[in-house]
Amino acid sequence: SRIIGPGSPGFAVNAFSSAPSSQSQQRLAGKVAVITGGASGIGKATAAEFVRNGAKVVIADIQDDLGHAAVAELGPDAACYTRCDVSDEAQIAAAVDLAVARHGRLDVMFNNAGIGGRPLRPPLGAMDLADFDRAMAINARGVMAGLKHAARVMVPRRSGSVICTASVAGVVGMGPMADPAYGASKAAVLGLVRVVAAEMARSGVRVNAISPGAVPTPAAIRTFTTLLPGKSAEEIRRIIEENVNMVVAGTVLEAEDIAKAALYLASDEAKYVSGHNLIVDGGFNVTRAASR
Ligand code: NAD
Repeated sequence: SRIIGPGSPGFAVNAFSSAPSSQSQQRLAGKVAVITGGASGIGKATAAEFVRNGAKVVIADIQDDLGHAAVAELGPDAACYTRCDVSDEAQIAAAVDLAVARHGRLDVMFNNAGIGGRPLRPPLGAMDLADFDRAMAINARGVMAGLKHAARVMVPRRSGSVICTASVAGVVGMGPMADPAYGASKAAVLGLVRVVAAEMARSGVRVNAISPGAVPTPAAIRTFTTLLPGKSAEEIRRIIEENVNMVVAGTVLEAEDIAKAALYLASDEAKYVSGHNLIVDGGFNVTRAASR
């Protein structure tokens, strides 16, 4: 077998360093994306990042006001909004069809919509399994529906990138009173990605997960506000930054950091990355969580 490396004929030592700065490039030029949960938090930041990089985006969410506001910010040429409850397969199918009808193709499906864990949950014996069913219906079955309908339009074109938002809570235990429904639903996302990526690889469609650590999005702040009544949003944000995330070199985790991970997986730079779980948590999964 031939090993290609420095010294091999044709090996370009400066192949990467001579490339133009990626920041000056539109890394998704001409691509079309559907982003579920795109009206707020991680999805909204990702919609903005995708548009900055030349993509057209369809924001699929259930918060109409926020969805329309996001379109107004991004511009109606680059973005549109459609009401889509991901727990209803027909609505996911319609969002995918809208992207194809409007732009002629679908390159990126970001299955990102999700609901957070139930704060202050009761002990296991007193838990209502309806909460489990709801988390699974949105966080896991919603992703399954997104995978199914992305495949429907991507496989015939033999191209596409599907990204699914899991969570570090699907990778490690988050403590004795973490919500088991949330952890199970996010672990389910990782299982779906592993299995579906194997099938889709033969069709040229890549499937990956992103597992964020705690990002102070509206959903996370709501959750922590319930846990810590009386604290202001700013105090909650600081608590999330100082106690939940591992702080890397004085910086904290923002929705935009997750958007950049999604941008990479969506782009052709990740053309050989499939079946992967990209954990973006500042190392939380290998530090604090491991020491619990
Ligand atoms: P967010 O509340 O800011 O955004 C979530 C969006 O999903 C909202 O706009 C909401 O309306 C939408 N949504 C909820 N249910 C939906 C449904 N049934 N159909 C369509 N849209 C629906 O929260 P976020 O933090 O940006 O969450 C985005 C994803 O990231 C979720 O899957 C969440 O579980 C995951 N996540 C978040 C964190 C965090 O700390 N914020 C950490 C790990 C994973």
